[in-house]
Amino acid sequence: MALALGLILAGCAKTPAASPPVGPSQAGTSEAVVVERAGRGTAIVSAARGDAGRWARLANTASAMIATRVAGVAPAWSGELVVEVPGSQRRFEQMVGAKPGSYGQIAAVTVAGGSDPGSPAERIVVNPVAADKLSDLGLAVLLAHEATHVATNSLDSSAPMWAVEGFADYVAYQAYPQARGVASGPLLGEIRTNGPPAGLPGEEDFTASASGLGVTYAEAWLACRYVAETSSPQQLDTIYTELDEGKSLSEAGRAAGFADSADAFETGWRKYLTRLAGR
Ligand SMILES: [Zn+2]
Repeated sequence: MALALGLILAGCAKTPAASPPVGPSQAGTSEAVVVERAGRGTAIVSAARGDAGRWARLANTASAMIATRVAGVAPAWSGELVVEVPGSQRRFEQMVGAKPGSYGQIAAVTVAGGSDPGSPAERIVVNPVAADKLSDLGLAVLLAHEATHVATNSLDSSAPMWAVEGFADYVAYQAYPQARGVASGPLLGEIRTNGPPAGLPGEEDFTASASGLGVTYAEAWLACRYVAETSSPQQLDTIYTELDEGKSLSEAGRAAGFADSADAFETGWRKYLTRLAGR
């Protein structure tokens, strides 16, 4: 369960800055692919897998499942999603610019798109080994999370990682509420034992090799859900948009008529977590 949980939650938006992602044609030896389309989904899948049609349908479903939930922060999004599924984990790591073996617990990454005109600015690259271990529900949550990164142009966001990852998880778990219990379980258990976290997770807590990624993602997700539930989803959209544009948490909270300082925000979030844990 812990493995699957980590895989579901650890879909990161940002690739290592030192080694930018490379396209299929530049990533070492090329691999034969099959391209399929379904509605707004396009899948570019290793020919060896033979399931390109399924991935195109999964992408189309992810686009549809998040459409209304991202409309407030990404009104101009076309809904088009491109998903690439290479034939091996090694090739996945090449495509996202990661060191061999370093992305074993990452199931998918959103990267900058190809240079062909008309292609979406960002695309989703799937770790085939990790993704094949997920349940249908886990895969649906993963793609909804990554699709949110694409819709909101996460790679260009100035928002802190907790907001970028938390918003993507918020959208994904609104779309698939039946996955919430598994995702929040370890964090709430931790809070029952040790109390709530001291503060929001920092940028370094989201690196692919960090321990406790599942708990970190749950903290970020529940910071976003805290705003949506104790205030409103529209207020969350406003706070996210302000952070995305580079405003501080205090400024963003004020703009949304919510907590008027970062300290007040964190205090409210910790109380919310404590209440959820039933402590
Ligand atoms: Zn992510």
